Amino acid sequence: MKAYDMENSAWARFSEEERIEVEEYNKTYKEFLDTARTERLAVKEIIRQAEAAGFRSIEDVTSLVPGDKIYWNQKGKSAILAVIGENPLTAGLKIVGSHIDSPRLDLKAAPVVENKKIVYLKTHYYGGLRKYQWVCMPLSLIGVVYTTAGEKIDIALGESPNDPVLFINDLLPHLAKDQSEKKLSEAIQGEMLMPMLGCNSTEEKTKPAILTLLKEKYGIEEEDFASAELEVVPTQKSRDAGLDHSMIMSYGHDDRVCSYASLAAILNAAKGSHTQVSLFADKEEIGSVGNTGVQSSFFLDFLAEMLALQGHTEDLSLRRTLRHSEVLSADVSAALDPIFADAYEEANSAKLGYGICICKYTGARGKSGSNDANAEFVSKIRQIFNTANVPWQTGELGKVDQGGGGTIAYIMADWGCEVVDCGVAMLSMHAPLEIVAKTDAYCGYLAYKAFFESK
Ligand SMILES: [Zn+2]
Repeated sequence: MKAYDMENSAWARFSEEERIEVEEYNKTYKEFLDTARTERLAVKEIIRQAEAAGFRSIEDVTSLVPGDKIYWNQKGKSAILAVIGENPLTAGLKIVGSHIDSPRLDLKAAPVVENKKIVYLKTHYYGGLRKYQWVCMPLSLIGVVYTTAGEKIDIALGESPNDPVLFINDLLPHLAKDQSEKKLSEAIQGEMLMPMLGCNSTEEKTKPAILTLLKEKYGIEEEDFASAELEVVPTQKSRDAGLDHSMIMSYGHDDRVCSYASLAAILNAAKGSHTQVSLFADKEEIGSVGNTGVQSSFFLDFLAEMLALQGHTEDLSLRRTLRHSEVLSADVSAALDPIFADAYEEANSAKLGYGICICKYTGARGKSGSNDANAEFVSKIRQIFNTANVPWQTGELGKVDQGGGGTIAYIMADWGCEVVDCGVAMLSMHAPLEIVAKTDAYCGYLAYKAFFESK
C-alpha cells in the first residue's frame, strides 16, 4: 500500500481485514467519546484503562526499569502515561501530546437567575466557539460542585435517557426580521447563551422552587456554585454518519479523536527503545494556561520525578531528556469542505479520509504563534509512516490570512523537543457536533503506535 496517496482514499487502500479493524477500532472510540465527555471524565477513563493494563501511579513506585508502566494524574484534569524504554531517559522520549478539553459553556459563579418567571443559568463560553450554533439543541450539565462543608458532588444532568435536558432558545423566524439582518457573529451574543432551568411555580417567583429542587436532587445550595466546575455540553452521544457509516458525528472529536488514538497506541504498542509517553492535557482551547495546562510545570515535574526514580536529580538530566525528545503534537486539523471552498487553499488542505495529517506549521498571518517544525524531523516522521504503511497526508489550516489556529506544539518546542503537529483532519471543528472519517481516526492510532515503536 502507498502510505502517501492523494488519489485514493485510505478506505480504497485498506484491505478487507483492515476495513474490519477500522470498524472495531471506532466502536471502542465511540465508547470513549460517550464516557469521556469532559476533561475530568476523560482523565478518569484514561486512568481506568491504564490501570487495567498494568499502569501504576508514579507516587506508588520507588524505582523504574524498562517495561515499567506509570501514570501521573494532574488534579483530575490532565494525565500522563509512560512506558519505560530500554534506553536511558536522557536519550529522549517519544511523546504524543493531545488535549482533552473541548469548547463548551461553563456556568458562571452565580448562575441561577430569573426573568419573567423563567429560571435560567448564566454561562461563560469556553474556547473558540460560534455562539449561534449552540441554540435549539438538547444540552447536558456535567461537572463537580463543592459544598460549604467541602463535600464533592458529581453532576451529570441530561446523561441518563430519562433525565431532563437543558435548552437555549432562539427567536422564531416569524419575528426574526431584525435579528436576521445582523452579522452571524452578533445575532447570538455571549450573554444570551442561557439554558432554561424551569418555569413551574406556584409562588410569585420561580427561582425558590428551582433552588429547592437543586437541594433535593443534589444537596447543593446556591452559594455552592461559587466552588463548582459545571460544563454545558451537547446531550447527543456519538452516532455513525453517512449511509455508508463512513463517518462519526460527535461532540468533542477535537481532540478526543487524537487523545483516544494516543491512549490506544500506548496501551498496544510494542515495547520501544525509547520511553513512550502519552500526554493528555487540559486547557488547550484557552491557551494551555493554568496548572493543568501545558504551559505549567506539571509535565516537566513528571519528567523530573521519572529521572529521580532512576537516580538523576540534576537539572542537566532534565534538559538533556527534553533536548533529545520527539513530540507528535496530536491535535486535529481542518479537512477541506468543498461547500466552503473559498476558505481553503485546495492543494494544501487535508482531505477527509486520506489518513493522518502532518501539519508542519499552524499559526495565523505570517505563521504567528506557530511551531514551524524542522524539515529534518518531518522527514523522520514521514519515513516512520511510510515504513509502517500508515496513510498520511499534509494539511494547512485554510487559506493564508483567512484565520488560523494553534496547538501545544510551540510550548513543547520551547523546551527544546523536536515537535510536529500530527493529527486527524475533521469537519465542523468546534461546532457542538463535529465530524471525522472513521478511517482517519484509525490512521491516528496507527500513526501514534508506529511513532512509539520507532527508533
Ligand atoms: Zn484541538
